[in-house]
Amino acid sequence: MATVRVRFAPSPTGLLHVGNARTALYNWLFARHHGGKFILRIEDTDVDRSEERHEAQLMEDLRWMGMDWDEGPGVFGPHAPYRQSERTGIYREHTEQLLTEGKAYRCFCTQEELEAERKQAMAEHRPQVYSGRCRALSAEAQLRRAASGEAFAVRLRIPDHPLRFHDLVRGDVEFPQETVSDPIIVRSSGVRSSGMPVYNYVVTVDDALMEITHVIRGDDHISNTPKQVAIYEAFGWPVPEFAHLSTILGSDRERLSKRHGATSIASFREMGILPEALVNYLALLGWGAEGGTREQFSLAELVEAFKLERVTASPAVFDFEKLHWMNRHYLKECDRERLAELAWPYFEQRNWLSPQHIADERAQAWFDTLLAIFTPSVDLLDQLPGKAWFVFDFDPLHARDEEENAPLLASESAQKVLAAFAGKVRAHAGPVDAAQFKAWMNEVKAETGVKGKELFHPVRIALTGSHSGPEFDKLIPLFEEGSRLALPVHVLSVRERVEKFLAE
Ligand code: GLU
Repeated sequence: MATVRVRFAPSPTGLLHVGNARTALYNWLFARHHGGKFILRIEDTDVDRSEERHEAQLMEDLRWMGMDWDEGPGVFGPHAPYRQSERTGIYREHTEQLLTEGKAYRCFCTQEELEAERKQAMAEHRPQVYSGRCRALSAEAQLRRAASGEAFAVRLRIPDHPLRFHDLVRGDVEFPQETVSDPIIVRSSGVRSSGMPVYNYVVTVDDALMEITHVIRGDDHISNTPKQVAIYEAFGWPVPEFAHLSTILGSDRERLSKRHGATSIASFREMGILPEALVNYLALLGWGAEGGTREQFSLAELVEAFKLERVTASPAVFDFEKLHWMNRHYLKECDRERLAELAWPYFEQRNWLSPQHIADERAQAWFDTLLAIFTPSVDLLDQLPGKAWFVFDFDPLHARDEEENAPLLASESAQKVLAAFAGKVRAHAGPVDAAQFKAWMNEVKAETGVKGKELFHPVRIALTGSHSGPEFDKLIPLFEEGSRLALPVHVLSVRERVEKFLAE
């Protein structure tokens, strides 16, 4: 195979969502698998909707997922510039060439005339395609009318044979030429000079000049492809291979949209999805490795295994639960230092930790312990504060009134257990460790005759506000060490918890 060159061509009109992120990923994986080039091209011809901040964000999102580009904004390359808004001169020159060669012609039909044509076609149940009225105008007539100030659009002369291309996902595709008619490639500006080149035209000129060998994109572009093929043919350029990726659906099998939940890459990052989890999940959304049900792949393993032929044509259903499950897996694999760095902001946001503690070794070690306790029970990093709240923000009043807790605390055995336990804590001077706590529980058990849940639930509620949660062996040292750190909120020690719970 000649050197593979693929591109990701986003329009910077909003956030990068899963659909386009998957398109980017498949392009990137394909390029890396074949030792080819991955090009980033910014399609910002829609000046009203394109914004620089969206461009910056989408580049950040790509980098975050681990995708780098060989050519594109900020990197340059032999086909610069890589922003369409900076390539208008190139499009103009190419339009001139097509007009000179008679592959395209100026169309002077007005909006009203075209509208009337469309209405008539509709009434006669014919396809609403351009009649070709200006097709037969001679070059001289075109130039004369243009020179006299008549506004015109530029239309491509569609060849009189069906338009064919090969799609690596769908096989050979053919569109009868009548379905295309002579498409406008440059819109009328309403004045003498021609106006804005259209999407299909600039994409094709760019893909050809950038020597793209494989166009991998969403299947919402499939109906554009015959027009693009006609443009390649008009210039005598080789037609690339195409791969149109199936639509991504929500669980109700409707096209995935905001209705189904947040689907932007930025929002996934904010909720604490790790990039490797997202990339792994997106890779499997419409692709599977050969002969396997294997589900976990690092980026390097994906590069190795990725083949376009294994991309499915049927729509993929986006499964948030599966993404969460995947993330849980990667959170478990994440090394301590990185995990702490990623998780810290969620605690800082709540003002439970402060930036100066990042440099404090004791606070760091304590936070590592906290993460080791709570991370196994979350899918997303932003769920951590909700699990660990009682470490920082224990409210005994709330704990006592809690609907589930109140009946557990009201029983006679609970009262006995709490009184006995409080007695031990109060009689003890100095810090409490896990062994000490265990010994107390055994004593309380022996003295009160209460055991099992009846023994543990009241104590757990008194210390954590809930009757279920992580093991005491881990929590007791966490409370004790936390109480000795100067954090923005004071972490209550075991004794302070008991006092507070029984006092109010
Ligand atoms: N700019 C187009 C889009 O964002 C992609 C064009 C293409 O891939 O051909 O949908």
